[in-house]
Amino acid sequence: MKVFPNDASCKGYLADLKWHDGFECSKCGHDSGHRRKDHSYFCYKCQHVESATAGTLFHKVKFGLHKAFCIAFEMSTSSKGVSSIQMGKRFGIRQGTAWFFMQKVRKAMESSQRWPLSELVHVDEFVVGGQEEGKKGRSYNTKKTRIIVGVELSEKRGIKRAYAQVIDDYSAKSFTPFFERHISKKASVVTDKWTGYNPLKQTYDITQVPSSKGKNFKELHLVIHQIKSWLRTIPSHASKHHMDSYLNEFSFRLNRSQFKQSIFHKTIERMLDHKPYFHTQIIENLSV
Ligand SMILES: [Zn+2]
Repeated sequence: MKVFPNDASCKGYLADLKWHDGFECSKCGHDSGHRRKDHSYFCYKCQHVESATAGTLFHKVKFGLHKAFCIAFEMSTSSKGVSSIQMGKRFGIRQGTAWFFMQKVRKAMESSQRWPLSELVHVDEFVVGGQEEGKKGRSYNTKKTRIIVGVELSEKRGIKRAYAQVIDDYSAKSFTPFFERHISKKASVVTDKWTGYNPLKQTYDITQVPSSKGKNFKELHLVIHQIKSWLRTIPSHASKHHMDSYLNEFSFRLNRSQFKQSIFHKTIERMLDHKPYFHTQIIENLSV
């Protein structure tokens, strides 16, 4: 609130970041121009005026950059995550408007996949909403959302980082994209005795141990518990695609919990580097 007290200071910050290495006109590629009072840039060659938000995830934010910064701040720093209902009330905007903007922030929070989990990694799956009654273990006809999760542990078994992703079923075929995105081939992976992991042993170093009712995977179950309690604040009709966006947000925050000072700026930087994500695209993903 002190550093960015109003829309203009937020815009100034975006302009500083965007043209940090100099100006390049997005229309004609020319590199000379001047920055105007409203933090847009005027191109000397084609006279195009480019705003700091053009071509970024802040494109056409209707409720002002200050509120947008506040929402991005809450999402990246609040340890439990925040809902669009809370954000709407707090900043005087419609819940739907807040939700659309928050999907854009989540887009910026997607993993770059450049730093897969590479040390001791515990992997398991879970169902959102809990196991169905009367069915034990991995049921194939559940209608609930299935999620695979990998947690990287330190030598002292502290939780370092985690990723999670929606899966169709508990087969190696469904597990593979998650492993390819988020787990390094150098990692020492530990799972329970589920046979679905067997084919992955050709590529990954996987050890299987009995779960012993979760005793051997305490840290993993702590993360699962955190994900579940956070997802409870989210609409239950969330599509598969959107569920993944919530899981991205969860990982982004957890994996940077040691870097509380920089996480907000990192979020803003990523939003600035990302091309616009339009409402029509977000709506298309509702049914995926
Ligand atoms: Zn130009």
